[in-house]
Amino acid sequence: MSDERLLQTFFDLVRIPSPTFKEAAVARYAADALTDAGARVTFDKSAARTGSDTGNLLAELPGTAAGRTVLLSAHMDTVEPCEGVEPVVVDGEIHSAGDTVLGADDKAGVAAIVEVVRRLAESNEPRSPVRVVLTVAEEKGLVGAKALDPADLEADVALVLDADGDPGGIVVASPTHYTFSATFHGRASHAGVEPEKGRSAVVMAARAGATMPSGRLDDESTANVGTIEGGTATNVVAQTAIVTGECRSLDTERVEGVRDRMQRAMEDAAAGLEGRVDVVWTKEYEAFHFADDDPMLELVEGACRDIGVEPRRVKTGGGSDGNILHAKGVPTLVLSSGMRSVHGVDEWMRIEDLFALTRLAGAVVRRSAD
Ligand SMILES: [Zn+2]
Repeated sequence: MSDERLLQTFFDLVRIPSPTFKEAAVARYAADALTDAGARVTFDKSAARTGSDTGNLLAELPGTAAGRTVLLSAHMDTVEPCEGVEPVVVDGEIHSAGDTVLGADDKAGVAAIVEVVRRLAESNEPRSPVRVVLTVAEEKGLVGAKALDPADLEADVALVLDADGDPGGIVVASPTHYTFSATFHGRASHAGVEPEKGRSAVVMAARAGATMPSGRLDDESTANVGTIEGGTATNVVAQTAIVTGECRSLDTERVEGVRDRMQRAMEDAAAGLEGRVDVVWTKEYEAFHFADDDPMLELVEGACRDIGVEPRRVKTGGGSDGNILHAKGVPTLVLSSGMRSVHGVDEWMRIEDLFALTRLAGAVVRRSAD
């Protein structure tokens, strides 16, 4: 039975450790499985740039009919601890044995894609062309996706199987995300003997943190001061302090406004104590947003109904490879993949959800043939 094969593939995948930048063994497994199924598998040349021990995996299953080209994508790395994962099934739920993550994030996606390709190749039904992109280093800044060559992404629609929650969830909006690293420069002096000569970078950083926008700013925007460190000893007025943080918004203009306010708060805090601050901003990824009547959305919602799953439109404050694929020109829907409590040792998923995710991705391909 192909459901049993799918479950076995998932178990095999979670047992192969693949911390970020060490995805080669999982890539090898997926490449062999896809090749056996009849797909043409290659790797891109991104490893030198990403620092991973493998490139991104690219595969193609030619169509037997005209229609939309569907690109299926998932990431091969997992967060740690991921050495020695042992999946345990209890009442239809898959957990880890307890001291590691399960790695359903995102091996549920990888297993589903491998099985979809097998089923399509085995079926006599007409199908449109399918592309597969399995990325490295998603968990540390979407690094693998950022290194993809747009020429390897030519498709009419992409599905990224990498959101949490029940299958049927479709991410229709995701934010623009900026991060910053700010270095406050003060002046060191002896805190007990001549504090008036000092200018405390730690106090500048604290004032900046206290006056910057933070938390949930409106229903589409958030900001956060993530880390703050500085100073050297209790008796030294701190010369340097480093603050890192971020802001996000589903609305691209609003996020620029939040960024400007954060920048000004840091500059004012530094200037108020006769110091200065250097702020380096990085745009991690760009927002995307689907119109209510977007045909790709209707395609996936139709596929949900085909397999008896109720579609749900979801707005998220998180990013994924989907933001990067969008920015590279492919309309991309990120799908809920059944993974739960991700990024901790409590991570788990239902066997039924793995099956549903796989049927859903297959149904999208089937609907894409003319
Ligand atoms: Zn993920």
